[in-house]
Amino acid sequence: MNFDKPITIALSKGRIFEQTMPLLAHAGIEPQDDPETSRKLILKTNHGNVKLLIIRATDVPTYVQWGAADMGVAGKDVLLEHGGEGLYEPLDLNIARCRLMVAGAEGASLDGDRLRIATKYVNSARRHFAARGQQVEIIKLYGSMELAPLVGLSDLIVDLVESGNTLKANGLRPLEHITDISSRLIVNKASWKMKHTLVARFLETLREAVSKEK
Ligand code: ATP
Ligand code: MG
Repeated sequence: MNFDKPITIALSKGRIFEQTMPLLAHAGIEPQDDPETSRKLILKTNHGNVKLLIIRATDVPTYVQWGAADMGVAGKDVLLEHGGEGLYEPLDLNIARCRLMVAGAEGASLDGDRLRIATKYVNSARRHFAARGQQVEIIKLYGSMELAPLVGLSDLIVDLVESGNTLKANGLRPLEHITDISSRLIVNKASWKMKHTLVARFLETLREAVSKEK
C-alpha cells in the first residue's frame, strides 16, 4: 500500500503487537525494531510515513482520542472501560480473543446482596450486575484479580479468561460469561475526516487480511 500522508498507529507490546504484525504486513508495513528488545516507544517502519507508538494497552484509546495517534489497536475490554469518546471502531481484528467472565472460588454463588466484586473492569462489571438487578460493591484492582477471593478481599472477580488455566491454578472457576473480547482497530475522528482516502484504503486492506486469517 502507498502511504502518501503521515500515519501513526498506537498499540501495546505482547500479544496485540505479535498478532497485529501479520495484519500490517498485509498492508506492506514492517516495523524496523522489535518492541520486546528495543526500548524505543516510537518505532519506525519500512514506510517513512508510518510510525508505531508502543504504549500500555489501557492507554491506546486515550492517545487515539486526543489525536496523538491516528489509529490504534485496542482490546474490546479496554474500549468498554474507556467509553469510546472521540474515536471510531470500524473493524474487529479478531485477534487477542478471550472472554470477560465472572469467576469465584469453589462454592461461591452469583446470587446475594452487596457482593464484593474485585476487577480491573469497573464499568463492565457494574453494568453487568446492574443488568442482573444486583447491587454490588466494586473493588478496583490493577492486576492479579485471582488473588482477591482467596484472601477475602472479594466474593467474586470479573476478569478476562482464555483457557481458564489461571483460574484453575488458583482454585477458581468461571461462573458467568459477560461478553466475548477481541481487539479492534480504532480511528481518531478527525483523522478519519482529514486523511479519509488513506484511512479508508488502509481499513479495506486490513479487512482483507482479517478475512484471510479466519
Ligand atoms: P499488563 O499485562 O501490562 O498489565 P494488559 O494486561 O492490559 O497490561 P496484555 O496482557 O498484553 O496487557 O493484554 C492486552 C489485551 O489483550 C487486553 O486488553 C485484552 O484485550 C487481551 N487479552 C488479555 N488477556 C488475554 C488472554 N489471556 N487471552 C487473549 N487475549 C487477552
Ligand atoms: Mg496482562
